[in-house]
Amino acid sequence: MRSIGLIGGMSWESSAEYYRLLNGLTRERLGGHHCAPSVMVTVDFAEIEAMQRADDWQGAAQRLAGAAVSLERAGAELVVLCTNTMHRVADEIAAAIRIPFVDIIDATVQRIEAAGMRTVGLLGTRFTMEGEFYRARMAECGIEVIVPHAPDRVLVHDVIYHELTRGRIQDSSRQEFKRIVDALAERGAEGVILGCTEIPLLIGPADSRVPLFDTTRLHIEHAVELALAP
Ligand code: GLU
Repeated sequence: MRSIGLIGGMSWESSAEYYRLLNGLTRERLGGHHCAPSVMVTVDFAEIEAMQRADDWQGAAQRLAGAAVSLERAGAELVVLCTNTMHRVADEIAAAIRIPFVDIIDATVQRIEAAGMRTVGLLGTRFTMEGEFYRARMAECGIEVIVPHAPDRVLVHDVIYHELTRGRIQDSSRQEFKRIVDALAERGAEGVILGCTEIPLLIGPADSRVPLFDTTRLHIEHAVELALAP
């Protein structure tokens, strides 16, 4: 199995989940005492979050490209960036390394296509819901993305940054997310992308009447698949 490099810390609440899933899936696939050979570089999310707010995407891209190069030097054979939002600068990160970059949007699109869906809802940070990078990639595959209306986008973004990335899981927020997922389904979403790696800590399949695409799980499943490919 190839060694998987993880760029974590955004936030570490979801990086811990990546680590758990990575090793759990590898044990399921290989059995016995197997776990996944891996290396993780953790960046300080306070620095990255400040760069997001300052619109310094170039600075963040450089910082994360540096983390990817460290992983490559440490022997990683694939790179996994443990956040949806920072895939906004995926091209800059991928360009800095010679090993493959495992893209979270590719992993998600593949699963939506396999489910035969054409219209999906998207929940994530405001950068993910309102930016072009996610929507454009989905559109290339003929998938239309719908996002919550403005007040609910603010709510989702604030719950991510004030609660989930700080390890706070609140039932009142879960109820709001359920309502928002329901509203997306009412507007025609056949499924909803949990396009922020901490959202699966708050809601799961039992909270929705349409299928949910858990990007954390889909990303790591895709990485394990590639790491085990001949
Ligand atoms: N982990 C989150 C995501 O998947 C948000 C934190 C970040 O801004 O990276 O987008």
